[in-house]
Amino acid sequence: MEPLLWNELRASWLSAALEALNPEPALRAALQAELAAFFDALVAAANAHDPQPVVDIVARWVEGMPGTPRDDPGLGKGLEVFQVVVRLQRTTDQVIARTWQGDREWLAQRQLLPVWQHLLAWAAEKEMEERLRRLRIRDEEIQSEILRLNKTKAAFISVAAHELRTPLTVVEGYASMMQSLLEELGHPVLLQYLAGIRRGAARMREIVDDLIDLSQLHANALEISFQPLWLNRLFQSLALELEPVLQERRQTLEVRDFPGSDRMLYADPERLRQAFYHLLTNAIKYTPDGGQIVIDGRLLPGFVEVTVSDTGIGIDPEYQDYIFDFFTRVGNPMTHSTSKTKFKGGGPGLGLPIAKGIIEAHGGTIWVESPGYDEETCPGSTFHVLLPIHEEPPEVQWPALSSRRRAEAVRRGQGGEEP
Ligand code: ADP
Repeated sequence: MEPLLWNELRASWLSAALEALNPEPALRAALQAELAAFFDALVAAANAHDPQPVVDIVARWVEGMPGTPRDDPGLGKGLEVFQVVVRLQRTTDQVIARTWQGDREWLAQRQLLPVWQHLLAWAAEKEMEERLRRLRIRDEEIQSEILRLNKTKAAFISVAAHELRTPLTVVEGYASMMQSLLEELGHPVLLQYLAGIRRGAARMREIVDDLIDLSQLHANALEISFQPLWLNRLFQSLALELEPVLQERRQTLEVRDFPGSDRMLYADPERLRQAFYHLLTNAIKYTPDGGQIVIDGRLLPGFVEVTVSDTGIGIDPEYQDYIFDFFTRVGNPMTHSTSKTKFKGGGPGLGLPIAKGIIEAHGGTIWVESPGYDEETCPGSTFHVLLPIHEEPPEVQWPALSSRRRAEAVRRGQGGEEP
């Protein structure tokens, strides 16, 4: 059989390919030139049994050389390259079938088959690379936007908390002067009103202090002053402090002696008191009247694990990581922050992130376990706090490390250290 005269196809292939790719009118001329080059490269590749010439042309489209159809949304951007190659292959098949029949058609297809196979595999890979590249860029954009928003949020918290502190001090000062005066004058009704103002101011002070702690945590500026501490004494003093609220809510708080609770360790007593105070007031708040709260624990190699369990409403597993984030509250956001211990009295969502920040600044970790959320059956929650036993004040600050990773490392017996 005579060799194939590929030029017999050229004119009809060019117009069919242009039709198949259907470019914008402004791009037709440029695309026509590119398609002519592609056709010549295809013929060269078929004759030489080497697909490289066509790969070079398509690679140029992907790179977007000047004058190539780079600006066409359907071409040259790498993303659609696979589709373009598929359309060109289909067009070529159709033109061959229209022009040659029998052996010539079969021979043409046989010569082109390895070229298309190679080109399609190459184009699929290019397209995947391009998709990955775009995803990476998008991911970087999202990450930097999150970072920017977090910085703005942290700056707002810090400014708002510091600005609120001064007028709050003024309110507290005048309220205290007024109290002395009203006591002298003996005015019980006004004294009652004043007590309401002072309670409100005290709650506001707690929130402002929490916000300041939070901004320090954000700025990694929370100072931990390591001093000797006995956990059992800390828990007993907290139990004493919370006694009036527990009585009001008819709840019991049992502080168990567990191995390690009477051991001296170095930690920041004031900060740890604050962390456990948040856990205990939450346990009180999210447990119905008459419920039970238990502080227990165990000694592990190098660590002491404390658990704070309640018989409260529990936490949906879906939210169990999420509640340690700033300003997270599960449930109705319209409930107000009127009291730290009222049943289900909504709070600003600051307690757990602060507790977590404090525990992590000690090199420890915190997590929660609960079968789920149910206000009827009250399955309860157990907060776990894993604290490293420092027998001397540590010199280095602990790196911020995801609680869950540290917990997993400790459970695996790797001591919770960062690898
Ligand atoms: P809040 O000020 O809302 O109490 P926290 O950061 O202390 O903020 O807690 C975040 C959320 O975690 C709470 O709104 C609540 O939904 C849930 N939560 C915390 N402790 C408990 C608990 N012991 N039992 C049930 N839910 C809890």
